[in-house]
Amino acid sequence: MLNINDLIRSSIRAMKPYSSARNEFHGEASIFLDANENPWNPPYNRYPDPLQRELKGRISELKDISPEHIFIGNGSDEAIDLVIRAFCEPSIDNIVTITPSYGMYEVAAEMNNVKCVKVELDPGFKLNADAILNTVDEHTKAVYLCSPNNPSGNVLNREEIYRILKYFRGLVVVDEAYIDFATSPSLLDGLVGFPNLIVFQTLSKAWGAAAIRLGMAFASPEIIAVLNKMKYPYNVSRLTQEYALKVLSNVEEMQRQLKLIRSERERVADALSRPPLSYKVYPSDSNFILTEVGDANKLYAKLVKQGIVVRNRNSITLCQGCIRITIGTPEENDALLAALSS
Ligand code: PMP
Repeated sequence: MLNINDLIRSSIRAMKPYSSARNEFHGEASIFLDANENPWNPPYNRYPDPLQRELKGRISELKDISPEHIFIGNGSDEAIDLVIRAFCEPSIDNIVTITPSYGMYEVAAEMNNVKCVKVELDPGFKLNADAILNTVDEHTKAVYLCSPNNPSGNVLNREEIYRILKYFRGLVVVDEAYIDFATSPSLLDGLVGFPNLIVFQTLSKAWGAAAIRLGMAFASPEIIAVLNKMKYPYNVSRLTQEYALKVLSNVEEMQRQLKLIRSERERVADALSRPPLSYKVYPSDSNFILTEVGDANKLYAKLVKQGIVVRNRNSITLCQGCIRITIGTPEENDALLAALSS
């Protein structure tokens, strides 16, 4: 049986976390003279709840997962970095990830002097569990996967992910930033059977709240406890917690937008693949499309001249000649298609 505690860096395991005023007091009180705040300008004069209890309660309801399995960070980017800092000893340990994928896994590793080993996806951007399992070594603490994957847009094969979870004796992070756009289910139900699984989700994509910076990590209580121990005491502002509660109270609006984005995705993909454009379009389970356009640099510059910015992925592994297009409003998508055809 894998013991998560054995994977934690010894200095982190031994460390005593900072205990803030708002952390130490639990209960009812009406006069707060414990945190050196200004007594006026409520409610923003007060530090926010360091453990975001109300928000976790709502997320727990929505996802059907108890709060001790939930970490909330300043975007998923905070959790991406914290997992590396909690488990990887600088200049000794490494992480293994797939390529092409989201660039922050490598950046976070390098920032912490942790090696990031990249394994190319198979044709069609498919995950090959054996390739990952053959690459991990005794210093690999975490495998970072992304499903649906950015920039390819596809969901990774569930059985391959399960094989990595089963045979790799370390953490398996599955970044599900785009999962709401997919028709296949989240891996959250795998948390019960796999104590080494960490799932990231975010309010930045389907929930339409990238500006507030709110990312979620779901994992075993042991892993969540380490992340909480390491985070800045008040890592999620009161403004963010309030706005997140508001966004999460309106599931119908999110689903309405999701439906529209999905149908626009099919419409844009169809137009890109048909004459006169006839681009190769990769299947997408996300809110973006990866498409092979020939001279991607030239096309990118042409679109910029018309005031339209897409993501040029020409220099990314396996994406030569590709641009990545985010699905916008129907009007924005029309403008893009008109500009491409001009
Ligand atoms: N994961 C993936 C796969 C992403 O593409 C992005 C943003 N582009 C993020 C995470 C970042 O999420 P957040 O805004 O929650 O930091």
